[in-house]
Amino acid sequence: MDLSHLDKKYFIDAHKYNCPFCKRNHVTYSMVDHFAFNWGDKKICHGYLIRCNSDGCEKVSMHLSFKELREGYVEYSQQRYYSRFAENTDIDKFLFFSQPTSYFVLDNRIPEKVRELIYEAENSRRSNFLVGASACLRKAIYELLEYEKAIVKNSKTGHADYQESIKSLKTKFPAVAPELFDALGQIQEMVSDNVHEGSWDAWDSPKLTTLIELTKATLHEMYVVPAERKDRLGVLSQLKSVFSSSKNGKDEEEQIETKPE
Ligand SMILES: [Zn+2]
Repeated sequence: MDLSHLDKKYFIDAHKYNCPFCKRNHVTYSMVDHFAFNWGDKKICHGYLIRCNSDGCEKVSMHLSFKELREGYVEYSQQRYYSRFAENTDIDKFLFFSQPTSYFVLDNRIPEKVRELIYEAENSRRSNFLVGASACLRKAIYELLEYEKAIVKNSKTGHADYQESIKSLKTKFPAVAPELFDALGQIQEMVSDNVHEGSWDAWDSPKLTTLIELTKATLHEMYVVPAERKDRLGVLSQLKSVFSSSKNGKDEEEQIETKPE
């Protein structure tokens, strides 16, 4: 069974999570505190402080939700009471902000700065801070272009030419589906000139979600897929060397005969 999707979550269940500090997966955590405050007239916001139980880590992260996610159950340990998240709840789904953000869940083969900005964009979008989210996503794409030294400047204005820069990125990654870069290159607000004057409209939430997913898919194709292919080829060459050494050592015919049908 493929359970790798669980590595992409912050909280796996009421007992285990992927720690953003020590980056260990599937470790146990404790809810060391809970608080609630009035977000608005009628809205209550719940905060949860979560401590990693890994040896040598024990760092605390904070998570906000508009939902009470605890159940009545309380655990007693070393003269302290801990509450717990309720069982069988998709905890991530109800959190709208986490500090640290869960940027670690984007594959760490993707450049770190880009990852951080993507997750900041996602967190801002979830909190409905659309201007901030739009800014983070734009910054993430420019950071990516810079990281890959793909920025092409317009000779007249001296500013980065967005479409030409994406095209140059596309030629650097010929194995990635060109449609992904074409889609990135067509983001209107990135292309328009007023980008450089800082006066542009924020994207609305559905558009932001689409653009964030598009960027993530492109990053995955750029950095994760080729690395995984390389890993598989590495396994293949190991297998080859196993076969060739068994050929040299043992009688080949004998091996074939003893092979079960
Ligand atoms: Zn930890």
